[in-house]
Amino acid sequence: MSRLKKYLSSKTSNQQNSAAIAYLAALDHIETVSPTISSSIIQELQDERSHLKLIASENFSSLAVQLAMGNLLTDKYAEGYAHHRFYAGCDNIDSIEETASQELIQLFGCEHAYVQPHSGADANLVALWAILIHKIQNPEIEKFGKKTLDELTPEEYEKIRQLLVNQKLMGMSLNSGGHLTHGYRHNISSKMMRSVLYDVDPKTEILDYSVLAKQVQQERPTILIAGYSAHPRRLNFAKMREIADSVGATLMVDMAHFAGLVAGKVFQGEFDPIPYADIVTSTTHKTLRGPRGGFVLCKQSFSEAINKGCPSVLGGPLPNVMAAKAVAFKEANSLNFKQYSQKIVDNAQSLANCFLQNDIRLVTGGTENHLMILDLSKFGLTGRQAETALREAHITVNRNAIPNDLQGPWYTSGIRLGTAALTTLGMGKDEMNEIASVIFSVLSNSKPGIVQKTGQPSKASVITDSTIINEAKARVKNLLIHFPLYPEIEI
Ligand code: PLP
Repeated sequence: MSRLKKYLSSKTSNQQNSAAIAYLAALDHIETVSPTISSSIIQELQDERSHLKLIASENFSSLAVQLAMGNLLTDKYAEGYAHHRFYAGCDNIDSIEETASQELIQLFGCEHAYVQPHSGADANLVALWAILIHKIQNPEIEKFGKKTLDELTPEEYEKIRQLLVNQKLMGMSLNSGGHLTHGYRHNISSKMMRSVLYDVDPKTEILDYSVLAKQVQQERPTILIAGYSAHPRRLNFAKMREIADSVGATLMVDMAHFAGLVAGKVFQGEFDPIPYADIVTSTTHKTLRGPRGGFVLCKQSFSEAINKGCPSVLGGPLPNVMAAKAVAFKEANSLNFKQYSQKIVDNAQSLANCFLQNDIRLVTGGTENHLMILDLSKFGLTGRQAETALREAHITVNRNAIPNDLQGPWYTSGIRLGTAALTTLGMGKDEMNEIASVIFSVLSNSKPGIVQKTGQPSKASVITDSTIINEAKARVKNLLIHFPLYPEIEI
């Protein structure tokens, strides 16, 4: 019997849930075409249901968000932007894109929103190029007495191109918690511009604005990026604005990690980037709890350049994902979401306090957002070993370098934990206490494996007492029984 038939026959019509019916019907149908894929989807659901998700960059989107993404909208090309397309028949996509942008404008109180970027990395590329085009390219075209790029001679165009790739970008280093797209050497951001990185203070691990102000004075970047992937503190955007203004730099904020906390008004005043930044980029799938994707918010002066994300960086948008973004942004425009985002931070602080009480060092000594980074030196484990041991115990985290990490970015000396997903499940302080206790038990009963060839301790393999792992798994199971993921979908 199909999954849907089984579900319908086990429920009265009052008990049936429309999202569950849609989901089960979709799985049944996918199975007729590719049983491998339908079974991977089901297996992923089972894995997520049986593991505690503490990955700071992930969340659980709603079934409405997921269903808005899985439909015929994926078939449509819509290059351009709403009401300004290079394809016929885009009326409904116009309406979807406009709805998503309007929801964002209402949510963040920004002047302009662009919802096409497929991811956070794309959003950053769109933003960086929009700044370069608006600030460098367009005035240069005017200096040549021309109106558009197409009117330039090859020599004139080459002069502008050289100028574009010689602009300076400043972003937080990966070592301090910044993101690859903020000027990391192995990323295109440091190849299309000259990248200079800034660090947190080596002792406090917090950003020292007076040191940054001096560095910015020296370097005089065209673009200053504020934002991070692995830093547990708020940033003061009023100070960042002042620093950018001191050299006429454009301030770009990447709020990918904490967008949900800005949307939910947990980050307010000087910690809300919208009033201070020229351009704000974000992902949609972390604390904001939408589908995987990105967006750009900006002041009106940058809107024309941002709307030209296609052709400057992107090809066609993903209309199905824009629809899912619109649904998620509507969900975030609610009192419920405000309460949710405050709870994310409350949970992070509860979890952090438990670790501190057990004398585990946290980077910067605590957290003010949704994430924390544990320094594992107390346990004699690398991040990679801790990640493996915890996964065995059904707890999913990711390893993360700590500032000035001696183990490097592959093995690392830390793990990063975030509370957004577990807060979506409804967990609170009591559950955070229990989770901290399970993590402590697993880490304190794990030790490095031995490299057979050398007899030396390994940086990768780990040995954890099997009784401890079994006990941890039972405790995780006991927690998750009370906070089921997508309980409407009965599989
Ligand atoms: N910016 C920041 C600050 C991030 O943390 C991330 C991803 O983790 C990105 C950009 C890139 O997002 P995506 O993986 O969607 O490209």
